[in-house]
Amino acid sequence: MTDTRTLEARALDAQRRAYAPYSKFRVGAALQVSGQVFEGANVENASYGLAVCAERTAVFAAVLAGAHRLEAVAVCTEASPPSSPCGACRQVLLEFAPDPAAVTVTAINPKGERRTWTLAELIPDGFSGRELP
Ligand SMILES: [Zn+2]
Repeated sequence: MTDTRTLEARALDAQRRAYAPYSKFRVGAALQVSGQVFEGANVENASYGLAVCAERTAVFAAVLAGAHRLEAVAVCTEASPPSSPCGACRQVLLEFAPDPAAVTVTAINPKGERRTWTLAELIPDGFSGRELP
């Protein structure tokens, strides 16, 4: 199990690699998935709607590596207080969380501010796909 501070340090490092020339809102994420850490950063595009958030690039990296069990999330932005994941990312994170109440989501910034929730708190009664035929 990766400790929270290590996950936060990886999110901070990933933030430095964000590609955010348009919004200037750099975001880094680090996820513990199936016992491994995966990093992500937001990647923007001149066609603004094509931007992808840090949390989702990290999820995609995990899936590509064959890791599917989300255990913990750290997200780093410059915002004060630290920003929580957007709605789209909450839904994508939920897809890989067998127990959303057991997934800690920590938002940090480089100043050392910190906010923490569980994924269940961030997306209560979310769409799990169990309703699908
Ligand atoms: Zn997002």
